[in-house]
Amino acid sequence: MKIRDIRATTVTVPLQAPLRHANGCHWGRFVRTIVEVEADNGLIGLGEMGGGGESAEAAFRAMKAYLVGHDPARVEEMRFLIANPTASLYNNRTQILATLEFACLDLIGQEWGVPVSEILGGRVRDEVTFASYCFFRYPNPKDGTGEVRTVEQVVEYARATKAQHGFTTHKMKAGVFHPKHELELYRALAASLPGDSFRFDCNGVWSTEQAIAFSHGIEDLNNDYLEDPVYGMNGMRRTRQMTRVPLATNTVVVNFEQLAANVLDPAVDVILLDTTFWGGIRPCVKAAGVCETFQLGVAVHSSGELGIQLASMLHMGAVVPNLSFAADAHYHHLTDDIIEGGLMPYRNGAIPVPTGPGLGVRLNRDKLAEYSELYKRLGGYPYDRDPARPEWTPLLPNDRWADPNSQDCGVIPY
Ligand SMILES: [Mg+2]
Repeated sequence: MKIRDIRATTVTVPLQAPLRHANGCHWGRFVRTIVEVEADNGLIGLGEMGGGGESAEAAFRAMKAYLVGHDPARVEEMRFLIANPTASLYNNRTQILATLEFACLDLIGQEWGVPVSEILGGRVRDEVTFASYCFFRYPNPKDGTGEVRTVEQVVEYARATKAQHGFTTHKMKAGVFHPKHELELYRALAASLPGDSFRFDCNGVWSTEQAIAFSHGIEDLNNDYLEDPVYGMNGMRRTRQMTRVPLATNTVVVNFEQLAANVLDPAVDVILLDTTFWGGIRPCVKAAGVCETFQLGVAVHSSGELGIQLASMLHMGAVVPNLSFAADAHYHHLTDDIIEGGLMPYRNGAIPVPTGPGLGVRLNRDKLAEYSELYKRLGGYPYDRDPARPEWTPLLPNDRWADPNSQDCGVIPY
């Protein structure tokens, strides 16, 4: 089997409502680049990449010069071909490599007639359990629904998604309002769903002192972990020395060098593996092996996904024995998907691992065309800007918090 062509299509798929975060906002939709790698036997492998609200089509077009004629089964060779570590100072292609790895594994699985999880060592579980992902949300710009800002709205949202999807773990994505206010919100959320477990992520925007104070304020709750309270290994290490809440990261340990540093001088307890940030499903499985050896916790990070990337997360989650936490996914905020069958349903907070050949998901060409047209109409969006605060730039540590009483949601095109 040889690669014959690489095609990329940018789509934008609406979210139920805009998702606010510490650096800005997902402006009511995700922009994703859908990649098709066609082999000379006619099979098509699928990949998907984010990019902070921007298209990555041009980057994938450039990869044709490297990969046409390449055997997709030689996945390890591809790493050195397009993402050699010493060349990456000039062209960091980690996420591009990841996307092409998904597609190559999809091709191999279809050629061999097995799911990707079988290529990776075989499933140790048939479904992956997910956490609810509670964001502060601006109202949907079309119909004004879906706002999450107040304590009542946070609690109502978590209860409703639990009722709909069966979640028993809840992640609060924060870093938007002052940490003292967010502490009240988080405690209210935990009190509203007794027996469930909780995790909190402010995307690293606090000072170390704020992180320590916050961690002391939540020690009595049923926390999975506190995720990235500060940015940087040293701040995480200092916070960790001063708290009994486990710390997790998807920002300061995202490669093997950083993982080694964390083993030698621990700063983080739980590593959130992301199939795109780490350069593919296989690097995540390798990293999980290192975590198993050193008995670090493993969870699954979500960088915003449609069904193809979700499939990569499901196959990864299926084969990692030491996955000891519910996985994260933005998926339940989406209104639609570009795969056949539409959005994958949750059952009791879990999604079954696809069992078809390869990634086990196929493109719905009508949906791909529909959301490609929507992208052409709306264009990209600045992931790291807040539509309601056009003059705002967050600092690190931040002290420019949003006003929890403000109902201003800016102007979001739709
Ligand atoms: Mg995070």
